[in-house]
Amino acid sequence: VAIPDDLPVIDHHCHLSPSGEGLRAAERFARAGGSHLFLTTMNWKGTPPLRVDDYAEQFEGMDRLAKRIRSDTGLVVHLVLAPYPVDLLAQAEAAGLRSALDLQRSAIDRAGRWIRERRAVALGEIGRPHFPIARDRREAADEVFDYALASARDLDCPAIVHCEDLDAAGFSALAERARRAGLRPERVVKHYARAVMSPEETHGVAPSYLARRESVRAALPRPGPWFLETDYLDDPARPGAVMDLTTIPRRTREIAATDASLLPRLRIPFVEAIRATYGFVPVRGGPS
Ligand SMILES: [Zn+2]
Repeated sequence: VAIPDDLPVIDHHCHLSPSGEGLRAAERFARAGGSHLFLTTMNWKGTPPLRVDDYAEQFEGMDRLAKRIRSDTGLVVHLVLAPYPVDLLAQAEAAGLRSALDLQRSAIDRAGRWIRERRAVALGEIGRPHFPIARDRREAADEVFDYALASARDLDCPAIVHCEDLDAAGFSALAERARRAGLRPERVVKHYARAVMSPEETHGVAPSYLARRESVRAALPRPGPWFLETDYLDDPARPGAVMDLTTIPRRTREIAATDASLLPRLRIPFVEAIRATYGFVPVRGGPS
């Protein structure tokens, strides 16, 4: 059985670099049967931005790459923009914690402008470093996190969260944090989710699962919303460090070949979760 014509095939979180493999990786994804990329910004210049203008340039570079991918491959590409939460640490070293905080907030405002102009669909990645850090850093990161959640509320857009692995208590705390900022947990996505969990455990927050074969199998019977992602990182210095961008189309073809009765379940990550979280319906071959 082939992938149904009306089933979009979506990588919900990946990073491509205008100075790396960028367009070629997207071509591979398209050839493998993929249709949509949620392209999350990355420090494609290699060093964390130290001025808001550096972020402006980073976002513009991502936009140029997205346009190029759309025109050359026909893929639908949605941009997701925010200052990467881990940048805060290098910025604090370079200019002090207060000015790092200001820079992060200004960069979130800058990403917000893109969302308001409908040139980006979500704020992300926002959150905090996924590893232990000094207490003052952690407090500053949480302050930026809350600012970003409140911005998503004001912008009426989804927030894509980068943080440590979460158990049910962690998901509950994240939902509560969003609510305190005025944002419905249904607008929040935990990216890089690894353990497949039930909706009772995720407290309204949508997990975006890393598309390992076992995770896809475990997630398929579960009710949504949940997403699939590779978190593909286009970094020439670390080839093969992550799942290839072709993974999600390949998983989809495997399911079509081995258990086609499960194909309708893929509408959860590829259609319904996007409708529930983003408020639009992705269409294969449709307008970007
Ligand atoms: Zn990422």
